[in-house]
Amino acid sequence: MKKERTGKKLKPWQRKIAIGMASAIMLFFIIDKISPVNTNLVFAPVIEARDGTVLHAYMAKDAQWRIKTRLDEITPELKKAIVFKEDRHFYYHPGINILAIGRALVNNIFRLKRTSGASTITMQVARMLAPKPRTYFNKCIEIFRALQLEVHYSKDEILQLYLNLVPYGSNIQGVKAASLLYFNKTPDQLSLAEITALSIIPNRPNSLLIGKDNALIIKERNKWLYRFRQNNVFPQSIISDALQEPLTAFRHNAPNGVPQFSQRMKSGFPGRLEIRSTLDKKIQQQAENTVAAYVNQLKLHNINNAAVLIIDNKTHEVITYIGSSDFADRFNFGQVDGVRALRSPGSTLKPLLYGLSFDRGFITPKTMIADVPISLRGYSPENYDRQFRGNVTAEYALSNSLNIPAVKLLDNEGVDNFINKLSDAGFISIWQKRKKMGLSLILGGCGVRLDELTPLYSAFANNGVYYPLQFVMPETSKNKPAVNDSKKGITMLSPGANYMLTRILSELHRPDLPNAFDEARGIPRIAWKTGTSYGRKDAWSIGYNKRYTIGVWVGNFSAAGVSELSGAATATPLLFQLFNAIDYNAANEWLDAPADISFRLVCAETGKVPNDFCQSQVMDYYLPGISSNEKCDHLKEAWVSADGKFCYCTSCLPPNGYKTELLPNISSELASFYDASNISYQKMPPHNPACSRTFQGQPPVITSLTNGMTYLITDKGEQKFQLSCTTGNDVRKVYWYINDKYFAAANAGQKIFFSATTPIVKISCTDDKGRNCNIRIKVKFI
Ligand SMILES: [Zn+2]
Ligand SMILES: [Zn+2]
Repeated sequence: MKKERTGKKLKPWQRKIAIGMASAIMLFFIIDKISPVNTNLVFAPVIEARDGTVLHAYMAKDAQWRIKTRLDEITPELKKAIVFKEDRHFYYHPGINILAIGRALVNNIFRLKRTSGASTITMQVARMLAPKPRTYFNKCIEIFRALQLEVHYSKDEILQLYLNLVPYGSNIQGVKAASLLYFNKTPDQLSLAEITALSIIPNRPNSLLIGKDNALIIKERNKWLYRFRQNNVFPQSIISDALQEPLTAFRHNAPNGVPQFSQRMKSGFPGRLEIRSTLDKKIQQQAENTVAAYVNQLKLHNINNAAVLIIDNKTHEVITYIGSSDFADRFNFGQVDGVRALRSPGSTLKPLLYGLSFDRGFITPKTMIADVPISLRGYSPENYDRQFRGNVTAEYALSNSLNIPAVKLLDNEGVDNFINKLSDAGFISIWQKRKKMGLSLILGGCGVRLDELTPLYSAFANNGVYYPLQFVMPETSKNKPAVNDSKKGITMLSPGANYMLTRILSELHRPDLPNAFDEARGIPRIAWKTGTSYGRKDAWSIGYNKRYTIGVWVGNFSAAGVSELSGAATATPLLFQLFNAIDYNAANEWLDAPADISFRLVCAETGKVPNDFCQSQVMDYYLPGISSNEKCDHLKEAWVSADGKFCYCTSCLPPNGYKTELLPNISSELASFYDASNISYQKMPPHNPACSRTFQGQPPVITSLTNGMTYLITDKGEQKFQLSCTTGNDVRKVYWYINDKYFAAANAGQKIFFSATTPIVKISCTDDKGRNCNIRIKVKFI
C-alpha cells in the first residue's frame, strides 16, 4: 500500500532550514530544562497597615534593602518611563534586539565606539540575576537567559523583575525599597518627577545619591523630562508640572513602626513577603501618642511601661497593637511585647464568672451574697481592703470587686468548668496549668495575656459570643470586599446574662473611677472592669462599647510593684483617654435588652422571689426559665415560749403556752460575722433546754486555721494562733479543746488565742448543742 502524504513536498534547502530550526528549538528546551533560569530573589518582608502603608520594613538576609514590588504597584507611568528610557522596543522583541546587537557588534569590531545600548530590559534582568564579567561568551549566556525569561514570563513580570533588581546606590535595591527609603511612599504613589529621578539613578548609582547630589539629579531628571515631552510620552501639562517639582528627598530611616507587632507577624507568617495587617494606621498613631504621653507622666512614680490592644468588635480585627509605650527605652525593657506577656489578671476574670453564674441561675444582679470570712477547702480569701461587708448584692460585689463573693461563685461554678470556659476563649496558660489551679484563680492566681483578656471583653460587646482575633486582612478577591468574615463564634454567655453583666460594668456609681474624672464629664460611654494584681505589679482596665474593645495594661516589665499602682487610678484614665481619642461620644445603642431577659420584683433582703412577709421589694432582671425561682426565706416561723425566752422544735413543743413568730433567718456564717463585728441583729431565742432531741444541724467550722496546713513560727512563746469558728444560728457558746484537753469556752463568733507547743496540734470545737469538729495543724518552729 502506498502511504499518502499530506501537504506539499519541501525542497531540500527548505528541509535543512526546518530541521535546523527544529533542532535549535529542541536544543533550547533541553538546555532550558537542564539549566532553568533562576529568578528567586531574597526579599525581606514588610508589614503593612490595612490601607497598604508600610509600617515596618526588614532588611533582607544579604543585608540589602530589597522589598518586593507588586505588579499592581507598577503604575502605567512607571512602566512608560522605564520602557522609554531603557528599551523602547521592549514590548515587541523576544528578549533580544537583533538589530541593536548587530549594530553593537559592527561598532565593536570596527572599534568605532563602544555601545552598550544593545541590552534590552530582559537582558539587563538576566545580567542582574547572575552578574558576570563582560565577555562575548558571557554575553551569549545572557542572550540565552533572556530568551528563557521571555519563554517563561510575561512582559509585565519581566519588568517587575527588573524593577525589583535595579540598584539605587549603597544597599538599596529595587524600586520599592528606593521609593520607601527616599520618598517614604510606595511605588504607586510616586509622581512623574519622582519616577524620572528614580529611573536615572541606576545608571550611576554611586554618583547620583539622593539627598547628596539633588541638584545634579534634577538636571539629569529634566533632561529626560524634555525627551519625554519631545516624544509625547506623557501629556504636556504633566511634564510641565514635573519640571517645576523640587527634589527635597533624602534617605529616610526604613519604616520601623509597631516593632513588637511586626516581629510577631514576621514569625507568625514565615515566607510571606507582604503582610497586610488589620492595623488602622491613624488610630494606631493616635493611640501611640496618647500612651507615650501618659506613661511619661507615670515615670515620676516609677511606673514605666504600658501595653494596649484595640479590637474592632464587628470584624474582630486588631486595629491597634502597642507592645510597649517606648520601644527604644532599653533601660526599662521597652522591647518586651506587653501584649503577649504573661501577667496576673487581678480581678479582670470576675465578669465572666458573674455572667456564667447568671446563666446557671445561681444569682441575679440583686441576689444577696454574704461577704464574710470563709474557709473553702482550706482557702480563706480576704478583700483587698481586709474589710468584710456582710450581705451585699451580686451587682455590688462585682462593681466593688469583692473577693469573697467571687470565690464563693467560683466554688459554685466549679474551677474546672470555669477553666474549660476560659480555654474556649483561648486562655492558654490557664489551660496548661489547670491541674495547679484552685479558687485563687478568680483573684488573679494565674497568668493571662492582654491578647487573651481583650478578646474576652470583646465577646461581651458581641452578645456574649467570642471570636478569635484577626491580625491580617483576608486575601482580596474581586467579588469579595476585604473584610474578615466573621467565623462562627463560641458562645460564652447567653445574651441575657451578657446584658446583665454589661449593665453592671457600665454603671457609674462605683469605687473604681479615677479621681480626676467625675460623672459629668470625661467618662466615655463604655462598660469596663479594672484589675490590680497582688503586690501592685499590674494595673488593668479593659473596656468596650459597641464598636471597640480596648485593653490597657500598665506596670513595669521589670515586675517591680509600685504602691500607687492600681487598675482604677493607673490604667483607667488611659482607657478613658483612648476611648475619647478614637471614638468620642459614640452612640450607646447597644444596651438594648435582648429577648431572653425580663424583670421582676424581688425581696430586697435576699434578692429571691418575694414571700408574703417580704415588705421591701425591688426590681431585678432575671432569665425566665433559668434564674432560680426560690421563694424568699429571710424570715422563718418559729415556736416561741409565751415569755419569748425559748423556742421549741416538734419534739418539745408543748400542747399550749407558745406563740408562733416570724424571726430573721440568718445564715450561720453571717451570724458569726455579726457577732464578731458587734453588729446587733435580732437573734433566735435559745432552744428549750429541756428538749431531749439530738441536733442534726451543722457542726461548727473552724475558720482561723486550716486542717492539714503547716504553720511556721519563729518564737515559741510570742506567736499566738487565733481560734474562731462559724456556727449554727442557734448556737450561743462554743468550747475549745487543744490536743483533747479542754482549753476555753467562748461566745460563738468570739476570737481567742493560744500558743502551740507541740509540732502537731489537734484542735476541737464543740458547740452548745454538742456538735463537734476537729482539725489538725502542723507547726514548724524556726
Ligand atoms: Zn424576703
Ligand atoms: Zn426541741
